[in-house]
Amino acid sequence: MKPIPEPLATSTKLQAENLQLREQLSTLIEQVRRNEDIMRRHQEFDLAFISASSFRELIESIFDALSASSKLDVVTLVLLDSKYEVRRILEGLNIDLSDFPNLFFAQDAAEFGHLRSLKMPELGPFDEKRNSYMFPAQVLTPASVAVVPLWRHHGMIGLLGLGSLDRARFQSGMATDFLEHKGSIVAICLENVINIERLKHLGLTDPLTGVNNRRYVTTRLAEEVVRTRRHAGVMSCIYIDIDHFKKINDTYGHQSGDDVLREVASRIKVELRLSDTLGRFGGEEFVALLPDTHSADATQVAERVRAGISGRPFMLGGQSKQVTASIGVATLRGSEPDQTAEASGQRLVARADQALYQAKESGRNRVCVSEN
Ligand code: GH3
Ligand code: MG
Ligand code: MG
Repeated sequence: MKPIPEPLATSTKLQAENLQLREQLSTLIEQVRRNEDIMRRHQEFDLAFISASSFRELIESIFDALSASSKLDVVTLVLLDSKYEVRRILEGLNIDLSDFPNLFFAQDAAEFGHLRSLKMPELGPFDEKRNSYMFPAQVLTPASVAVVPLWRHHGMIGLLGLGSLDRARFQSGMATDFLEHKGSIVAICLENVINIERLKHLGLTDPLTGVNNRRYVTTRLAEEVVRTRRHAGVMSCIYIDIDHFKKINDTYGHQSGDDVLREVASRIKVELRLSDTLGRFGGEEFVALLPDTHSADATQVAERVRAGISGRPFMLGGQSKQVTASIGVATLRGSEPDQTAEASGQRLVARADQALYQAKESGRNRVCVSEN
């Protein structure tokens, strides 16, 4: 065979090299594009996270945005809440925890077991014994998991569980700096949002009884009126006033009076739904707003509240005494003539107060209903 002339051989070699380089370049460009895409998804996630100003928003970001941006099949979150504080705040915000089946609370860091001192994310295939705390039976069982500790200055605030159905997704020995970064963002945002909610909660809560204060009820009142009008619905208001409360103070002391207020608040609360709003309106007066509730149903609730207070004696100065309350009920129909929502709400409460006055006049320890 005749040898290929030198310049031609070089040219073929160069062409082959060129082709190889082009292929390498397109692989690299493809990789850069993919990485950019990943970065963009994560930046969007970080932004959604940092801008969340309420607990609900943040938790939704964790469960939805994080799952989407990181292509995860299951995300769980355990928060350390030893004093029940976070759960109380959420209850105050009317957040139904059953909306977040993958959110759990730990009473004590000891519950974390081996995860208690976890400083770095722990990655690996799902292991029933090691991982059932973060991925209990009721959530989807992943094939591989990453457990990310959430640390703040004062200690661990919780744990984030990331799970994938892909067994190769999380493997021990993989770099964890990316997950550490996510963990620190999640921890800071959680701490911030909990602090924001705590402040809001303090400003809107009656410190003595722990129920909402007047300011909160007044704001909710207008919102509920708007909502009721929008769907031409109905809402009720019940106004509760403890009978002869002054006498309780005078006989047993102010401290016992305070105990009665706390106990009455909790006896009212057990009769209400999560969607109802209860507030201490003044001294020994409580107002409850019952959305989507007709007069007859509200009257039944009021009757249960009345019976709940008078039916079981209170311990006062070591003696067991009956305490009673009078209650007024009023109902607003969304189709009522035009007034501002605030005025309409005020009128509703005023009507419940008038019905309460009738209950006092007609002998106390009873429920009266406003007719108009
Ligand atoms: P009625 O059956 O007509 O409602 O009589 P009453 O004694 O309950 O009503 P009145 O309005 O005369 O008295 C309310 C009392 O509630 C007077 C006030 O000192 C007391 N009070 C208001 N706020 C507090 C509080 O935070 N703690 C205690 N212990 N007492 C309070
Ligand atoms: Mg009163
Ligand atoms: Mg009273």
